[in-house]
Parts: sequence; C-alpha cells; structure tokens
Amino acid sequence: MNDQQKLEQGLSQVASLFATCTPDKQRQISDLLDLYRAEKDALAAVIQAVDAADICRKCAGQCCQNGKFRLTVCDALALHVKQMLLSSDFNQKPLCPYGTERGCCLSPRFRPMDCILFVCDEIEARLTESDRFELSEREARIRKYLQRLSQLAGTPLSTPLLLWSGSKRRS
Ligand code: SF4
Ligand code: SF4
Repeated sequence: MNDQQKLEQGLSQVASLFATCTPDKQRQISDLLDLYRAEKDALAAVIQAVDAADICRKCAGQCCQNGKFRLTVCDALALHVKQMLLSSDFNQKPLCPYGTERGCCLSPRFRPMDCILFVCDEIEARLTESDRFELSEREARIRKYLQRLSQLAGTPLSTPLLLWSGSKRRS
C-alpha cells in the first residue's frame, strides 16, 4: 500500500471511529476540538505577529520538508468533524505532501500540531518573554485537550495518521 492509499484508509477509519461514538461522546469530542482549533489559531497568531510570513517566505519553508508523518489521527478527526477536504501530493517528496507553491494547504487551525508548535531559531529570536510564556501556556492546553480527546476516542490521537492507518483495533 502506498502513502496515498494509507492516507485514504486512515481518513476513512477516522470517519468510522467518529461515527461509532455515541451522540454524547461526539458532542464532547466536537466541543474539545473547537477548543483545540482555537488554541492553534492563537498560537499561530503569536508567531504571525513577529512577521513570520516574511521570514518564512525568504526561508522557502525549510521546516516543511519530510512532513508526511506530522498529520496525526487528531488532525484527521478535526478535519473530518468540520467536513474539510485534505489535498495531498506524495510525489513532491521531500516537500511535505500537504505543501503547495503558496505554502501549507491547511489553515493554522487545521495544521498538524507539530507544525504549529515548531519554532525555528529565526522565529525564536524575535519572540518576547511574554510571547514565550503565552506559547508555553497554550501548548500545555493543546496537549491537555489532546489527552482528553484520546481518552474519549479510545485511541492515542497523537499517532501519525499514516502509521495508525491499517491498525486493527481503535477502541
Ligand atoms: S518556521 Fe522557520 S524554518 Fe520554517 S519556514 Fe519559517 S523561517 Fe523557515
Ligand atoms: S502540514 Fe503544512 S505546515 Fe506542516 S509540514 Fe506540511 S506543509 Fe508544512
């Protein structure tokens, strides 16, 4: 099975996982995913405020090389619940399959957690103490939501989707 097939299988398994949850569990998962997405938006805003777009344009997205394992089961679940489509191109290796000429195909709220949490040296040098404090507080909240979501879903949602895809038991 190639990576594209593994991705499609994983997305389909995520849809089944959500469909087999009770309505109450689905509501709890959706509510937590709202918080998870909001934290990612807020984290991205802190980075954006130090003119990251300009720095990243000059760097040409070095941190987006070899990113195929960054999309987790949780990220796939967040996309599924909002019925977001994911475009991918595994032939553009070593560029991440979710990268495009205009940057990532995913908005920050749907971007993999590792991509949102990653701060390279260039960006780090521009952060204030207060930025760093805010980033660490938000990261802690994101990890807490992820842990609770995993408990609800009955599977470790931080697992890369391509590695989780095809595994036998989900709950
Ligand atoms: S976050 Fe850093 S490594 Fe990634 S594209 Fe921007 S400047 Fe480059
Ligand atoms: S998912 Fe987006 S931000 Fe993350 S490595 Fe791939 S292209 Fe870059």
